[in-house]
Amino acid sequence: MGKNWGRGALLALAAVLTLSACSGKGEGPGADENKTSEGNVAGLPVTHFESGLKDDAPAPNLNVKNATDSVEDKIAIASIADVSDYWTQEMPVHFGQQFEPVKQLQSYDPTTDREEVCGASLKEAAMNAFFCPPEDLVAWDRKQLLPLLNEEFGPMAIVTVLGHEFGHAVQYRLAEKAGMTKNTSTLVKEQQADCFTGGYFRWMAEEKSKYFRVSTSEGINQVLASLYMIRDQAGQSAKDKSAHGTAFDRTFAFQLGFEKGAKECAGINQQNVDARITERPFDKQDKGEGDTKIDMKAIGHLQESLDKAFGNAGAQPPKIVDEGGSCPGGPATPPASYCPDTNTVSIDLQGLNAIGRTGDRKAEFEGEDPGGLGDFAAFAEVASRYTQGIQKGVGASIDNANAGLRTSCLVGAWAAESNKPGANLRLSSGDLDEAIAELLQPKSVIAADVNGKQVENGFERVESLRRGYLEGSGVCTQNYG
Ligand SMILES: [Zn+2]
Repeated sequence: MGKNWGRGALLALAAVLTLSACSGKGEGPGADENKTSEGNVAGLPVTHFESGLKDDAPAPNLNVKNATDSVEDKIAIASIADVSDYWTQEMPVHFGQQFEPVKQLQSYDPTTDREEVCGASLKEAAMNAFFCPPEDLVAWDRKQLLPLLNEEFGPMAIVTVLGHEFGHAVQYRLAEKAGMTKNTSTLVKEQQADCFTGGYFRWMAEEKSKYFRVSTSEGINQVLASLYMIRDQAGQSAKDKSAHGTAFDRTFAFQLGFEKGAKECAGINQQNVDARITERPFDKQDKGEGDTKIDMKAIGHLQESLDKAFGNAGAQPPKIVDEGGSCPGGPATPPASYCPDTNTVSIDLQGLNAIGRTGDRKAEFEGEDPGGLGDFAAFAEVASRYTQGIQKGVGASIDNANAGLRTSCLVGAWAAESNKPGANLRLSSGDLDEAIAELLQPKSVIAADVNGKQVENGFERVESLRRGYLEGSGVCTQNYG
């Protein structure tokens, strides 16, 4: 168990997921205006352009206490005006009532503000943003939180956080229409607020916003990266009163809202959350945050686990060999490559251990390199190469975008399948989040074809892994045939 990072435990910071930040700022392949690529994001085309405030965005007409003219406050205030527009349009359509604007808005600096707001001191609310029902107030830390979000991930990370807080304001307004009672758990409220945020981003991606434009690849990646960052610590129980959800759970809720809209979000309740939530405490046998050293003994357990999961696939199982991580004369996607000529997965143990070390969450919060993502990040890379052999063995394509999605889907299916009592390799708390963090890395091959060509958008990568995990391997061939 880790430290409690402050009231509301909303936010933490990471330098882990760099892909969104660099592409969002106009570097790399995402910089071309109006470029689209293969795939679809919940029915929308995969677009690449710089996400953020529009050049012709109107000036928001809002009264914000202690607002500054900083870039971050400007984005925050525009996002409040924008998400208010969304709810003004959406609420009457889906819920038959008008959206009442949030009464109080406040920007604060926890290093200098000594005020008490909503019964808590702003000094204690560093790295946070919150909605306070009795005062109908949304407030945010402009000094530490917003600049870090903007620098690490890009402007859409700020919009995500404010969109989420407005999700709580909407819950308060909808009350029983959103299933809210005084007994509703934090986790259900959080899942619903993340889902509402997804609905809002869908609207923005459909170009209905006057203030922002968001691309469905690099722009939405900024959202996914920020949801990863604000995940609960591995080891937290979903039954804990302060549980907000794992990255797996939070991205699920966001994608649900993005795909199905606000009405669907209102149906989130304790029962359906309990049925799918992955957050759970460490088991007794979990040692050292649940991460094992990756040596040939661990790889032996991985081989056993994969052979078992794919034993009925009708393909010759590939053998995992310690041969440097690339194939002579074949694909090189180190630290793990699938070699079609020999039906082997060539690995580099040192490279895998660099990925597999337990991440330093404190460094992550400070915007520094956490040093590793955890053992399951590395196992998932190897597993993804193993599934190339299985896919090839059954006659499926292994060198296109569909193969990339099928691969991450099969990694998800294996993760669920491996998680059986008595197995030598089982998922520990936090493992799925390690896979999600790794999946979003620029060099990851978890959602890549045999040559290491990644699926270009994070949304589909995360979605395919989750579908495999929740629905099993059948869905992988059906959906990504
Ligand atoms: Zn919240």
